[in-house]
Amino acid sequence: MHANLNWLESRMKISPDREAIIDADTKDSWTYKQLYDRADILANYFIHQGVQKGDRVALLVPNHISYLDFIFACMKIGAIFVPLNWRLSDDELEYVVKDCSPKILGVNSSFLKKLAKADSDIILLEIHHNHYLDNFLKERKAPPIELQETDPLAMIYTGGTTGRPKGVVLSHRSILWNALNTIVSWNLSEDDVTLTCLPMFHTGGLNVYTLPLLLIGGKVVLSSSFHAEKAVADLLQYKCTVVLFVPTMYHLIIQTRQFHEATFPDMKVFVSGGAPCPHKIYDAFRKKGIAFKEGYGLTEAGPNNFYIDPKDTERKLGSVGKPMLFNDIKIVREDGSTAELQEVGELLVRGCHAFEYYWNKQQETKKTIQHGWVHTGDLARQDREGYVYIVGRKKDMIITGGENVYPLEIEHWLESHEAIVEAAVLGLPDEKWGEVVTAFVVGENISEGELKAYCRAKLTRYKIPKKFYFVKELPKTHVGKIDKTRLKEKAREDSR
Ligand code: ATP
Repeated sequence: MHANLNWLESRMKISPDREAIIDADTKDSWTYKQLYDRADILANYFIHQGVQKGDRVALLVPNHISYLDFIFACMKIGAIFVPLNWRLSDDELEYVVKDCSPKILGVNSSFLKKLAKADSDIILLEIHHNHYLDNFLKERKAPPIELQETDPLAMIYTGGTTGRPKGVVLSHRSILWNALNTIVSWNLSEDDVTLTCLPMFHTGGLNVYTLPLLLIGGKVVLSSSFHAEKAVADLLQYKCTVVLFVPTMYHLIIQTRQFHEATFPDMKVFVSGGAPCPHKIYDAFRKKGIAFKEGYGLTEAGPNNFYIDPKDTERKLGSVGKPMLFNDIKIVREDGSTAELQEVGELLVRGCHAFEYYWNKQQETKKTIQHGWVHTGDLARQDREGYVYIVGRKKDMIITGGENVYPLEIEHWLESHEAIVEAAVLGLPDEKWGEVVTAFVVGENISEGELKAYCRAKLTRYKIPKKFYFVKELPKTHVGKIDKTRLKEKAREDSR
């Protein structure tokens, strides 16, 4: 492919004066021309600080225009943009910064102290406000650099749900094809507007809607934090048409008065992603007659992989839909053979939107990308009409008395009880059964006996949790996913 990989430049030529970004906190806004100029100034600064093709430039700030300045500057000079998760503990952050060893690190003053142990060779660029580029040289332009489509553009660390975060290297091609795929399959246009309050250090905040909408000439409203009431108000004020939240955010949104009063006249669809979506959330949207769908993705692929028409979410409850136009999928058994329709197996994904490799992790890369297929580590099944259902993580599958149990099915059933707010099911080691099905539930006014009886009405005997833990809340990872490792530790401590 020999096209200009700097697609912001092409977009800027097509619609220089269209509004591209609005900062919902300060109300500042930027056109495509202004966005392009900012990236140019920053690219120039990077070059003059000695940044070369392949060098990493990292960013540690809440959602902010600088995410876009950084990635588009990298797009021009071939550097690798590394957005850092500011929710990490100081030790975890130290690990990640060492792993990616950036030349420059953009940081907000409130996070500076988190970098106390960072290598003193790293050039720190303090970013206090939207005008941080104002005093940079504007005249000298950074010369464009010859780039290949497989050259890295960004490195995003995974959520760390199953271990240490891994640096996922996304090339120009991966990011462009995720955006193209999304635009074509989800039917986005320049009239679309999204609100990005999901962290932009996560692929959800950056790649689900933000970059695809900037490619097609739409508008992105940035919010530095998430508050359910404020999010609803912003969606209405900016006439958003599409949005992504994770289930934890939806959980808070559907409890607000503002959500119940609003009709969302401009909204085409609300999307949930990043973790399994409780069916109660689907119900809240259905009752209001508002389109809602579940997406599935991972940092390593896309993250956008499937499309479902919101009209089908009722008929195909819990399905993430059919593969996007330029996404091959395969569901395979342990031995690698293709599973039958409806049979559960590991989901494999292939396409130009997939990642190139894990940073500093050759063995992990070899395990995850085999013969061009990304092994997602997730279990799924596909029905006769081609709709895919995510069944859960392979690592979370429980084997009890020789039977395979998928926690998600049980979690959905427990959460359908009106007394239960949230549930997490996992397997704990057991001499007799191998593993025993165990549930952690958040809920009130219900006993273990009642919950077991409720389960008997729907679940086969071996799927019914043998033990229930009643807890005030479930521990979550930095990106808001249920942290099953911590739950397992808690159960282990309790049994001592
Ligand atoms: P790590 O790889 O470090 O353990 P992580 O898997 O949480 O962290 P992400 O890339 O943030 O890293 O998340 C991708 C994972 O999120 C998927 O592999 C899948 O397990 C889960 N996920 C995403 N969307 C859905 C969904 N709709 N239903 C069920 N699970 C989902």
